[in-house]
Amino acid sequence: MDDSSPADKPLNFIQQVIKNDLQSSVTKEVVTRFPPEPNGYLHIGHAKAICVNFGLAEEFDGICRLRFDDTNPDKESDEFVQAIIADVRWLGFQWQGEVRYASDYFGQLYDWAVALVNAGKAYICELTPEQTREYRGSLIEPGKNSPYRDRPASESLALLEQMRTGDIAEGLMTLRAKIDMTAPNINLRDPVLYRVKRVPHHRTGSEWSIYPSYDFAHGQEDAIEGVSHSICTLEFADHRPLYEWFIDNLPVPAKPRQFEFGRLNLNYTVTSKRKLRQLVEENVVDGWDDPRMPTLSGLRRRGVTATAVREFCDSLAVSKTDGTVDMAQLDHFIRHDLNDNAPRAMCVLNPLKVTLTNWVEGEVETLTAPCHPNREELGERKLPFGRTLFIDRADFSEDTTLSRKKFKRLVLGQFVRLRGAYVIKADGVVTDEAGEIVEIIASIVPGTVGENPPEGMKPRGVIHWVSGEHSIDCEVRLYDRLFNEADPDGGDKNFLDCVNPESLEILQGCKAEQSLSSATAEDHYQFEREGYFCLDSRCASADKPVFNRTIGLRDNWQQKK
Ligand code: ATP
Ligand code: MG
Repeated sequence: MDDSSPADKPLNFIQQVIKNDLQSSVTKEVVTRFPPEPNGYLHIGHAKAICVNFGLAEEFDGICRLRFDDTNPDKESDEFVQAIIADVRWLGFQWQGEVRYASDYFGQLYDWAVALVNAGKAYICELTPEQTREYRGSLIEPGKNSPYRDRPASESLALLEQMRTGDIAEGLMTLRAKIDMTAPNINLRDPVLYRVKRVPHHRTGSEWSIYPSYDFAHGQEDAIEGVSHSICTLEFADHRPLYEWFIDNLPVPAKPRQFEFGRLNLNYTVTSKRKLRQLVEENVVDGWDDPRMPTLSGLRRRGVTATAVREFCDSLAVSKTDGTVDMAQLDHFIRHDLNDNAPRAMCVLNPLKVTLTNWVEGEVETLTAPCHPNREELGERKLPFGRTLFIDRADFSEDTTLSRKKFKRLVLGQFVRLRGAYVIKADGVVTDEAGEIVEIIASIVPGTVGENPPEGMKPRGVIHWVSGEHSIDCEVRLYDRLFNEADPDGGDKNFLDCVNPESLEILQGCKAEQSLSSATAEDHYQFEREGYFCLDSRCASADKPVFNRTIGLRDNWQQKK
């Protein structure tokens, strides 16, 4: 993948617009915002929007704000607000000033609604929801004017006030803009500005019984905050004329403009909060931060680094088309960062005991190994070596006919090197009643730490191990893709039918090297020969550590299927 600096990249269409706006002084200062609705946790798609908005502000010496679009109290909560704040911070971005909320502006928005009514540009409509739909028309049919459209402003104002104070039941009335019921763009057919919702809000409590629509709130919030370029995803392109109508028809303090770019979709997952919520509520996963989720908290808990997410987002095109990106592209950045930065350690996932008959009982030699092969500054770790150790079951075979090329591990009667330690020879095995091997009887070749063994004792390969006495017990969770299908929500598929039943495998009784006892939540490691792992943040204080597999060393997903 190319590692060229961003300066070498051609400007995307938004960068081009901003550059021109600055040159022609249309824009004095670049102000962007990231405007999440606190009705779920952020996912990888939001990371793209975050990187685009914060990235533009940084690049053009401007500022970026964080503003919650909390206009729909039904599904919103402070839990989501806090999680989103934590995720943006984790990604490494700092917004300008305080966190903002649409609800900070409810008073101002209401005053502007009143101004529209007074100007004859909005009215209270009493059509039922079904009638409203019917009057709206369709893509091929114009709409019809509501019979309430021309009622006197004074009447609308009185009703609006009653809506606000909670005297009107839900569904009976709405405040609508008076634009054009025959407009080809349905969004301009007298859109709803306010609806009654007698639901307490997580910030304003029961102060309001009406809440503004997204369309009535968003552009005005941008104007209040001096946003110069309001960047959103393509599904809002059809709303842009309405965004502009409000800005043109209200005494707003600034003239923000909206630009739309393509959403990020990743294959083998879903990026819709509604669907992610369903996975959580139906217990398909263990919460929003389940390591299989494409949420930022899930990725983090799985061990994906913020750097990997940002580099991935920076590698994506910002264009005017939606696209689906291959999960392998994200995986590439995850491995790349972990390979450079994760300390190495050894952990045996499926332990088989080895007893070294020529090692004196009770004697312990402390070997050392670098924490990272290319980064001396990360220091060394201690590897106590004694009479017993564990290797992985998959690293031993009694079959002496296995070719050296295919099986670079321990074979009965032959030699293998223990990573960072001695060359050993397998002399025999102990089996249980069922004939299963429960122990290997072996011997070391003396003087082989960092040295070649004598002629004729050629090790087949290098395997990982941990000390029998000094290792720690741990649980390891292996994650696979959450969905079996590349586009789980494509066509008329039900995404829940595409859930991979083998997306989580829990291994108990794994043995990790002693140095891992000091691991803290979300510490990243490369377990040699196994992959990248991190200490699970939810189980960090438990007696027995739990390590999550972030990703394998190589992409072997295709071969496996
Ligand atoms: P969802 O469809 O998952 O519910 P949303 O658009 O409703 O997402 P918001 O909280 O409103 O969620 O999104 C905040 C910002 O993030 C918006 O500007 C939105 O356009 C952007 N965003 C959401 N999903 C994606 C995505 N998949 N790719 C890029 N940007 C996204
Ligand atoms: Mg939205």
